[in-house]
Amino acid sequence: MPHEAQIARRRSFAIISHPDAGKTTLTEKLLLYGGAVALAGSVTARKNQRATTSDWMELEKQRGISVSSTVLQFEYKDSVVNLLDTPGHKDFSEDTYRVLTAVDAAIMVVDAGKGIEAQTRKLFEVCRRRGVPIFTFMNKLDRPAREPLTLLDELETVLGIGACAINWPLGLGQQFRGVYDRRKKDVHLFERTVHGAYRAPEKVGGLDDDFVAQHTVPEALEQAKMELEMLDGAGHAYDRTKIDRGELTPVFFGSASNNFGVQMLLDGFLELAPPPEARMAADGRVIEPTAEGFSGFVFKIQANMDPRHRDRMSFVRIVSGKFERDMQVTHTRTGKLVRLANSQKLFAQDRETVNEAYAGDVVGIVGNHGFGIGDTLATDPKLKFDEIPRFAPEVFAYLHNPSTAHYKRFRDGLEQLLSEGVVQQFIQPHAGQRVPLLGAVGPLQFEVVQFRLESEYNAQSRLENAPYTVLRWVRTKDGGAIEDFDIPSGVATAQDSEERWVVFFSDQWAINYFERRNPNAELSEIPWDE
Ligand code: GDP
Repeated sequence: MPHEAQIARRRSFAIISHPDAGKTTLTEKLLLYGGAVALAGSVTARKNQRATTSDWMELEKQRGISVSSTVLQFEYKDSVVNLLDTPGHKDFSEDTYRVLTAVDAAIMVVDAGKGIEAQTRKLFEVCRRRGVPIFTFMNKLDRPAREPLTLLDELETVLGIGACAINWPLGLGQQFRGVYDRRKKDVHLFERTVHGAYRAPEKVGGLDDDFVAQHTVPEALEQAKMELEMLDGAGHAYDRTKIDRGELTPVFFGSASNNFGVQMLLDGFLELAPPPEARMAADGRVIEPTAEGFSGFVFKIQANMDPRHRDRMSFVRIVSGKFERDMQVTHTRTGKLVRLANSQKLFAQDRETVNEAYAGDVVGIVGNHGFGIGDTLATDPKLKFDEIPRFAPEVFAYLHNPSTAHYKRFRDGLEQLLSEGVVQQFIQPHAGQRVPLLGAVGPLQFEVVQFRLESEYNAQSRLENAPYTVLRWVRTKDGGAIEDFDIPSGVATAQDSEERWVVFFSDQWAINYFERRNPNAELSEIPWDE
């Protein structure tokens, strides 16, 4: 297959949601469709398939789906689908955000009974800031749900994104019988078969068909027709350009656990989501996915995959060129040449497939190459991507070294972990203290630091929580000195690793107070240059 065609058929995305909205369930169901391709024509094999999480490894062996904790790759129809896991779903960390720099689109799963929840909102913000196209799956329509118009409205008022319904539910909760596909103008009825059965059968007809009338609740059908008229008149029109820019989200209704509406979501997503696109390098060059030279950036590092070898796996999102095992590239931050030999582990059971990979794919490189988060690997030694921004930490702690005799181990270990991007460090130059103040998006990151210091560097550490919950980057409006600020008690200033000033606060009230006392201060949730 020509290089261009390989890229054009790829879709790389992540699922974002609040815990319990149904991300895991949806992932499982999506995999069924991926696996089903390999099984086409094999009815007996299909009968024997059971779809539970614990069977993923089995699925992988039988169907050639590549399963790992970071990326699930499967083929569906003509597409190659890369589903990147947003790790720490329940245990939020910076890794969760970073994955979103490596995708080309996101599916946002919303519990239709609960609406937009806190974590969804945060992840959505990261996507929006990057202009990532977002698709919405309103899940759990089989349970008591908010009115669909209210849900669309909420997308608009809470998230500030226009919503365009691709399909529409016929009834909610107990009355939920199916959805109407607004583009194809047909009805898919949901048969309540065995819970979670393999592929819920879907019957198709028009909105005014007798069959549809017989199999839906009359009031619910009438209501849906009325709402559809309203949508046609006053709803956001479907607009491909706005979807691409992340200004409009296509909305699909369904029920993941009942496997209803999942295929419609997958088909719609693959049709509307963009293939891997060009990315801009730090020097302003635009790197097309079809460019000859290989390039990619590290967005995640996982250590201790194999405790006996202290191995590290660096996950690289390919931006351009073709990955071939054993190829030689430059680690452009250090200028070192690296042979990408040990790349097969990512595709655990399926070693063949990683011999080559294309833009949009993720390869895992095993070994201690000294890679850090955000580093570029490329055939062009001058190429650098600047894809991984700083995310404002929300938990802070001082990391003490309880043993002066082992200071060097402690410091070396911490330096390595900082260079990998495990946590962020802030320096308080004026305070003259040497205890590192660390910031993270979730407390899990601190645990990882302590665990790895001990297991890899044999260095003990003691964590002391710092009394802050909010960090803001700060500058003066008139270019004056930060040191001149009037710092109330309970507030602290420091510099990040790039010597940009930040302020720590205990809560929103402290921010307001600080701003009143320092009208010359300008605060931002992200550094100005990112
Ligand atoms: P995650 O935390 O976002 O990964 O959520 P899970 O996929 O683990 O789902 C959370 C709970 O919601 C589980 O008990 C699921 O069985 C249930 N669930 C998921 N989708 C649906 C749905 O469409 N309808 C109903 N009734 N329950 C669902």
